Amino acid sequence: VTATPLGPGPEFDRIRAIAQALGGAAAGLGDDCAFLPGGWCASTDASIEGIHFRFDWLSAEEIGWRATMAALSDLAAVGAEAEAVLVALAVRPGSPNDLPTRLMIGAGEAANAVGARVVGGDLNAGPTTTLAVTVLGRATRPIRRSGAAPGNELWVTGRLGGARAAWQAWEAGGAPSAEARARFAHPIARIAAGRRLATQATAMIDLSDGLAGDAGHLASASGVRVVVDLDRLPIDPAVTAGDPALAAAAGGEDYELLVALPGQVGERLGPELKTALDLDLTRIGVVDSPSAGEVLFLRLGQPVSLEGFNHFR
Ligand SMILES: [Mg+2]
Repeated sequence: VTATPLGPGPEFDRIRAIAQALGGAAAGLGDDCAFLPGGWCASTDASIEGIHFRFDWLSAEEIGWRATMAALSDLAAVGAEAEAVLVALAVRPGSPNDLPTRLMIGAGEAANAVGARVVGGDLNAGPTTTLAVTVLGRATRPIRRSGAAPGNELWVTGRLGGARAAWQAWEAGGAPSAEARARFAHPIARIAAGRRLATQATAMIDLSDGLAGDAGHLASASGVRVVVDLDRLPIDPAVTAGDPALAAAAGGEDYELLVALPGQVGERLGPELKTALDLDLTRIGVVDSPSAGEVLFLRLGQPVSLEGFNHFR
């Protein structure tokens, strides 16, 4: 197998085309990390000014933190321990001389917060400020997206929708609440939770594009239908607009983990995560049958349709 099946969407159509064009030049595409010999896991993630952040929303240190945690989240998604971070930077000509340093102070703080170190990088001038962050970690039992089986339960860490609430407040010309702003500016890659969940998980993914899209990736990779009860979602208190459950499900960039666990396991791991990490673990659905990757979202008992974040709308 050269590629793990991805869920629907124009961004993923482009990735499928790349995988097909690469053919035998690629291996193992489509999961949160690449799995390399020796238990090494690797992933890369770019944060781009105007797309992922704006300088009038966040400080340079916050931008570096957020870009690095976003990349580290893919290590959390496979249950890996974080080891090393490399950052390829591009900054606009005429940027303050200390901008690269400030971005990297944030990157270093994020790496440090999960036990990793910055081990290299690259610095260029470019038309827009970009941080391309590569992360390396190690897992003794890496968890892929592809192992969910009928009868498993779906659980999610933390609370959803806070980052999107901040984004929407800024986009509407206002200012987010302090809580929403913190969720956007200061995400925490769930490395420690991912390692504990990986002892029991059958499949796992991080919520970078939002539950709507990422549940589809897990379902497609595992060849199962999943049913998500939106009434059960742990909603960030910062979510106030519209139907909070739909907003929380649509929101990306919370960097929480969606995990498939055998029955009874979540009830045991939940209190463990709460005690050790002060992190909620909430059961939000089930894996119910083999399928090409269908996701059924229920709200008040009725099916509803949701779309994940799409860069190529
Ligand atoms: Mg991911």
